[in-house]
Amino acid sequence: MNNINRLLPGNTKSIPKHSDVDNTEWLALSRSKATRQAAVNSINLELDRKVREYVSSRDFRRVVLSTGLKEKVFDYVNRYSTILSSKGLPSQELGMFLLAGDSPAVSDVYIPPQYVRPAYCEVEFGHDDAVRAEYGKDIISWAHSHGALGVFLSGEDKNTMRHIVPRETKGLATTIDFEWGCNRLSTTLREYPTVVVNNNKGIFCGKAWSYERYVMRDGKMDLEVTYSDDSLLDNLPVVEVEGEQPKSYDAETIDAELLSRVSIPVESGVAKRYTVYRKLKNMPDGVSRKVVSDSSLTDRLRRDWYERIGGREISR
Ligand SMILES: [Zn+2]
Repeated sequence: MNNINRLLPGNTKSIPKHSDVDNTEWLALSRSKATRQAAVNSINLELDRKVREYVSSRDFRRVVLSTGLKEKVFDYVNRYSTILSSKGLPSQELGMFLLAGDSPAVSDVYIPPQYVRPAYCEVEFGHDDAVRAEYGKDIISWAHSHGALGVFLSGEDKNTMRHIVPRETKGLATTIDFEWGCNRLSTTLREYPTVVVNNNKGIFCGKAWSYERYVMRDGKMDLEVTYSDDSLLDNLPVVEVEGEQPKSYDAETIDAELLSRVSIPVESGVAKRYTVYRKLKNMPDGVSRKVVSDSSLTDRLRRDWYERIGGREISR
């Protein structure tokens, strides 16, 4: 009888059924469409109230990191900056996925394959399985370095956090239980923390979140995700907690990861090339970001991209 799916906007992958909700009783009682819709509205009012109560504290709006993670991020950014200057290149952005295991803190970062420019980076999603195998953790959101620039969330960054990250990553999920009449219902709240850093150890933290609300679909009660709110303008200080630690690393690990996954075009006339690049935002024709996960395909893509942009790679 329960047919409650979590539907992310634009995401068609199948999602496990929600098992906590029994809607048999009220469906039997509420036969007319209008009555059922009124019941759903009333459930959502109670749910909204419960979620508002949960997210209203200042602490909720802050980003929680495992101790040691901030240092790891700065070590990566520092090494990146050293590699770039050793090759005579200007500062470039760097995208990072944020990872979490069983605890609700962000506890590691992963450098995804990406194309970078001084004020732009385009990362590939679709590496969830590889990351889980290597780290035993999930990709829950993303972070990035602004290199030599200041730390803030640009309009594009906020847009990424509100629309792309919730579609492409899992977020940190919390189940919130509430009561409606004598029914015990629940919803899933998802948090998407983000961190912007720079070469001078500047850090900006913010968070977006969403939760599931009830809808009537084909006469059945479903859940669908609604974008809720964010603290992307606040830059509240991070909360650091003991717990799951980031995977250990050294300078060699960092270099190997950066050099194999970050593609930096080197060419003259950067301003002009940059315009061309912006037009290629969605990657070479016919390739979905979601399927780009094996390294040979990535290499082919990279070559193709350099051919089109007329640049070349930094030597390995
Ligand atoms: Zn940015």
